[in-house]
Parts: sequence; C-alpha cells; structure tokens
Amino acid sequence: MDKNFVSYYNFSKMSFDISKEQEIFLEGVDHICKSIRSYEEKCYLEERLNEKVIPEFGKIGMLGCPISRKYGGLGYDILTYILAIERIGKEGSSMRTFFSAHTSIGQMILQGWANEEQKKEYLPKTCDGKSIMAFALTEPLAGSDPSSIITKFEDKGDHYILKGKKHWIGNGTFANLMTTYAKEDSDSGSGNRNVSAFIVNGDSAGVKIEEMKDKLGLLTVKNAEVHFDNCIVPKKNLLGQKGQGLNIAYSALIDGRLSVAAGAIGVMMDCLNESVVYSKIREQHGSLLAKKQLIQEHIARIAINIESSRWLVYRAALARQKLHDYVEKLKEVDDQWQSKLSRSNIEYSMLRNEADRFATMAKFHASNSAFDSANRAVQIFGSVAYRKTNRVARHFLDSRAIIIYEGTNEVLELKVASQILGEDYRAY
Ligand SMILES: Cc1cc2nc3c(=O)[nH]c(=O)nc-3n(C[C@H](O)[C@H](O)[C@H](O)COP(=O)(O)OP(=O)(O)OC[C@H]3O[C@@H](n4cnc5c(N)ncnc54)[C@H](O)[C@@H]3O)c2cc1C
Repeated sequence: MDKNFVSYYNFSKMSFDISKEQEIFLEGVDHICKSIRSYEEKCYLEERLNEKVIPEFGKIGMLGCPISRKYGGLGYDILTYILAIERIGKEGSSMRTFFSAHTSIGQMILQGWANEEQKKEYLPKTCDGKSIMAFALTEPLAGSDPSSIITKFEDKGDHYILKGKKHWIGNGTFANLMTTYAKEDSDSGSGNRNVSAFIVNGDSAGVKIEEMKDKLGLLTVKNAEVHFDNCIVPKKNLLGQKGQGLNIAYSALIDGRLSVAAGAIGVMMDCLNESVVYSKIREQHGSLLAKKQLIQEHIARIAINIESSRWLVYRAALARQKLHDYVEKLKEVDDQWQSKLSRSNIEYSMLRNEADRFATMAKFHASNSAFDSANRAVQIFGSVAYRKTNRVARHFLDSRAIIIYEGTNEVLELKVASQILGEDYRAY
C-alpha cells in the first residue's frame, strides 16, 4: 500500500482530558468575554480597536496561554488554548484575530524557533502584554505564494538592513514586535531556501506603519502596511538559520490555521444560539419561525457545521501537540536542534505533515462552515440582520475574511490533495 495512504489513516488515539485548573482558566475566559461584550460591540460600530482586550485577558494570563512557564506563560497545552480561542470566537472574529496574530503566528513562532537568548529577551514581555506581536509575511506581489516575496535583506557584518513592504499585517498598527521574512539582496530566486526570518522591534529605525482602512469587516482589529525603509536589524535577531524563513513561516501557519478554525466554531455556536432564540420569538404567517421547515433546515445545517468542524479542530490540536512535544524534547537533547527541524528528519517530517494536514483541513472546513452558518443566520433574522448592530450580521461580515487569510481556501484544498497524492501532484 502507498506510504502516504498508510500514514493518512494511521490516526492516533485521541484524548480530550483537561485539568481542573485549565477548566477554571476557561471559565475565566468566558467571564471576560461576557464582561467586555457590549464594549466590543460599541468599538465595532465605531470601527476602532477595543483597548480593553489586552488588559482584561492579561489578568488571567491569556496573553501567554500556550507559552512555557519558563518564559512567563501559563504553559497550557494546545487543546486548552484552542478551547479558549473557540470561546473568544463567539465574541467575533475581530477579537479572535488579535490572539491569532499575537499568539498563534506571533509568540508560538518564537517558542518553536527562537534560540534561548531570544526567548528570554522577548517572550516574557509578550506574555505580560508589554510587547504585542504581529506576523509580517504578505506583500502586494506575494499573497498565496510567499516564495515570491521581494523584500530584501543585506548582511552588513554586524547587522542586517531590510528593504521592502508588507501589507495586511494583523495587529500591525500597534504591535511592537514582529517576525518578518526577506530574501538576501544578491538573491533573485524563488526557492524555499532563499528566504530568512527576522525578529523586528516595531520602533526600529526605518520601520514605518500605515493603517489599512475601509475594511469590509474585522473592525476592532487593525491591519497595517509595514514599510522597511533601510530598517536596521541586529544580527542576534535572525530567527532560526539563514534560509529557514519559509520553513518557519509555513510552520507558523499551522498554528494560525488552527486558531482560525477554532474561532470559527465559536462564530457558528453564536450564530446557532442567536438563531434559536430569535426563531422562537418571531412570528410570521401565524406561527413561530422555529416551526417552519425551511428555517429548521438552516438551524440543522448550522448545528451540523459546528459538530463536523469541532472534531477536525480538536483532532488537529492533538496532532499539533505531538509535534510540539517532539520539538521540545529535541531541544533538550540536541544542540543542533534548529537544523533538525527539516524534511530530512523523518520523525519531525511525519509529525509536522500530520499537524499541517489536519490544521489545513480544519481551517478549510471550519471557515467555509462559519461563513455558511453566518449567512444562514442572517437569513433567519431577515432585515433585522442587515445592520451591523446585529451579532450575526457582524459574524457574516467577519467570516468572509477567514476564507481568505491564513491561506486561501482554494490553495488549502489543493494542499490537502497534494498531501494525499504526493508532492509530484502538487497543483499550486
Ligand atoms: C483581514 C486580513 C488579515 C490578514 N492578516 C495578515 C497577517 O497578519 N500577516 C500576513 O502576512 N498576511 C495577512 N493577510 C494576507 C493574507 O494572508 C493574504 O491575503 C492571502 O494569503 C491571499 O493573498 P492575496 O490576498 O494576495 O490573494 P492572491 O494570492 O492574489 O489570490 C487571489 C485569488 O486567487 C486564488 N489563487 C491563488 N493562487 C492559486 C492557485 N495556485 N490555484 C488556485 N487559485 C489560486 C486565491 O485562492 C484567491 O482566490 C491578511 C489578509 C486579510 C484579508
């Protein structure tokens, strides 16, 4: 039998146990979500950042939930973090996007790839909210294909100089720490080994930030254009090894996709809840909407969307946990661990492929399902949901973005196919 086929069906045992302490933490997340709900709505209507998110969630350690205690985080497992993200998703994808950018494609890259000095310098500040993170990969000419980025770096002996422009960077207007990706100035190629990753302080000389306005949704999280105009980056801020940039960026996207998928479950749960309540009070043609078969179809489909997404997401979280555990063990026993995080290390490669595959499937399915669910919920509410003051209307607007970012769903579908058929059949 084909080797790919065997590993695809060789699912490991699933265990969803979380401790009492983690349960209490999740109750804390729920409490904060409820306490800032009306303020989030006000900010959304005024299209401004909800400045309560950082201090309020900071109180219970959510700003460093899956980050090791050694570096100031709570040290919780991926599933607990994902359950927290799912809960935050109910409050809207705007609020959830803040955490995806700060933690999933921010802190978790440092946790996975940074050396000890970098982790000690940067991670504690990110866990207590003094530093907020962003992930700056996309460029105007490089979206679905990050290997075509044109941002350049020059090695100046004791420092690097970055030149280029990134756009759509989540948290970009206020983040003071980001990872970014660039090609060596002398290099015009587009291969996977041409890109390097850097840790950049937002206040570095040569960094200019411009807010991207007039967005369709996600109105309480801010996106920015980030200009690197001869930006000076100290040598110590090279992340991983030279040429590992895309490997690092793609590994970050596993976490990003997982968080988007988890948030999408929250979106769907909120849409279901709102739809059930409303359909049981709104009467037309002499009976409640909830008694009408075509409305019931919408309700049933949202519920099915939730359950089918949930298992994929939790499955992906467990696969990601196995990858995390392997990498952390490797760091303990091997000084050369950074170079072992590559395809040539079979064990790493298998665990990473599994985490990647499930996160990709989860993001694809959950984001499509969230958009479908929000659309159905808007239909149940009729004209009432044609205003941004309505919760399901906001979910509808925000869910459009999650089909585009962290990998468009077209590219993710092709990625799943090539993961099963093999790289020779890669169609993107
Ligand atoms: C709200 C928002 C937040 C974002 N946050 C960040 C962030 O924090 N950091 C960051 O770096 N980036 C961020 N992005 C950028 C995002 O990752 C990109 O928009 C995404 O990767 C798609 O790139 P693109 O928009 O250039 O579309 P393109 O790559 O130009 O794609 C356009 C269309 O063509 C399709 N397409 C492309 N290639 C293929 C193919 N081979 N086969 C079939 N179809 C294909 C796509 O699926 C899509 O439908 C964000 C974007 C948005 C909208």
